[in-house]
Amino acid sequence: MNKRYITTAIAYVNGSPHVGHALELVQADALARFSRFMGHETYFLTGTDEHGVKIYEKSKEEGVDVGVFVDGNAAKFKRLVEVLNISNDDFIRTTELRHKDLVRQIWVKLMDNGDLYKDSYEGLYCVGCEAFVLEKDLSEDGMCRDHLKKPVLLKEENYFFRLSKYSDQIGDLIEKDVVKIRPEGRKREFLNMMAEGLFDVSFSRPKKVLPWGIEVPNDPDHVMYVWCDALTNYITALGFEDGDLFKKFWPADSQIIGKDILRFHAGIWIGMLLSLGLEVPKAINVHGMITSGGVKMGKSLGNVIDPFIYVEEFGCDAVRWYLLKEIPTLDDGDFSRERFLEVYNNELANGIGNLVNRVLMMLEKYNEGVIPDITVEGSVVEKFEEFKDKVVELFEKYDLKAGCEVIFDMVDWGNKYIDDMKPWVMAKEENAMLNQILGNLIFVLKNIGGMLGVVMPGVGAKILVAIGEESNVSFSQLGQDLQKGFKVQKPDILFPRLDKV
Ligand SMILES: [Zn+2]
Repeated sequence: MNKRYITTAIAYVNGSPHVGHALELVQADALARFSRFMGHETYFLTGTDEHGVKIYEKSKEEGVDVGVFVDGNAAKFKRLVEVLNISNDDFIRTTELRHKDLVRQIWVKLMDNGDLYKDSYEGLYCVGCEAFVLEKDLSEDGMCRDHLKKPVLLKEENYFFRLSKYSDQIGDLIEKDVVKIRPEGRKREFLNMMAEGLFDVSFSRPKKVLPWGIEVPNDPDHVMYVWCDALTNYITALGFEDGDLFKKFWPADSQIIGKDILRFHAGIWIGMLLSLGLEVPKAINVHGMITSGGVKMGKSLGNVIDPFIYVEEFGCDAVRWYLLKEIPTLDDGDFSRERFLEVYNNELANGIGNLVNRVLMMLEKYNEGVIPDITVEGSVVEKFEEFKDKVVELFEKYDLKAGCEVIFDMVDWGNKYIDDMKPWVMAKEENAMLNQILGNLIFVLKNIGGMLGVVMPGVGAKILVAIGEESNVSFSQLGQDLQKGFKVQKPDILFPRLDKV
């Protein structure tokens, strides 16, 4: 069946969303919109991860009930989804009953399959990491390098998941691209990391150290650790194996995550699916981190980029464009106000905005705003078929940045075509070809509007509606038919030029 299931990681709600969350959402959204545009039945999931010690302690610190705390933070993430115009079909929270019920079923299944066992574990535990840490990973004075705190010696009973049992199978699936990890460098890195085999992992914590989580079935002194609690969201949201959505959409076609959680997705998650006898995801696409003016973002540095402020100031489409076209899709990238303004002015105001404005103005001036009755010139149609095929090829490979670059080549082509054809000279000379050129340009706008809809849905729709098209044309409708005789309706200026601030 022609279906696509696309997921983001679920955001941990111990704080407010930052631009990295925006990046992941926008990437996944562009892929989901592209998938629908190409005619695939698409399901797109995002959500929030709401259990764990860190969240529990943060809520205590702030003196609020932990339930109230997660509600408040989850609302901020939902709001980010909204302001970025994300087209998700569902938003799952791990504190929801529908999730917890199915997670317990999943636990029982793993148990019945003999893949969970109880054992005592003694080791150094870092509260910040919410994990046992190895001595070799600590600094010289015995501190966790991430949290600059001394881990504590802890001995406790845990349930363990037999990940080691699936190690060879996981390595094989990834090596052979059955689970395709992009970029290739991250795939290699993971395979090297697991070369000596994956170890069994702790799947529970005693309730006294992890009071905020899903209780282990039939053992109320234990609470599930993040793996079984959070990774399972991708299948509980579909209703797990009895769900209609599950039957229709699983396995995931593209799971979009940050590089810091690849080993959990490529290792533990695949292992759990194998144990459950379920299909594995077809692709895991791993984006990088965003620096701010070349520096790692941090609260103490005061250089954290707040996506809400940028959306408020420049509109969601401009932010989406920057994240998709300026940040490498599968690598680290930089976000700075200076560069943002440059991209905004050069590509959005002077590029896309200018092209739309020029074409519609000329049509108004030379043909009373009416789309002429012409057949689009073959060479122009061919050129745009080429462009579109290239964009499709790149999006299918999940190179969203390169895809956006080709869409921008279409814009450049349009602006240059106007410069070359000089319709104003044709008008003066009463050249009979003028309407042909204007019609060709409407065809150019239609194609650009259609393709842009995937990346900047608001702008794409405005362009299409201005020339009499449906706001959500599909790829197969981007043919040569124009709305001949339609009187174009000039939209407001798409991207007002900004002075550098
Ligand atoms: Zn730590």
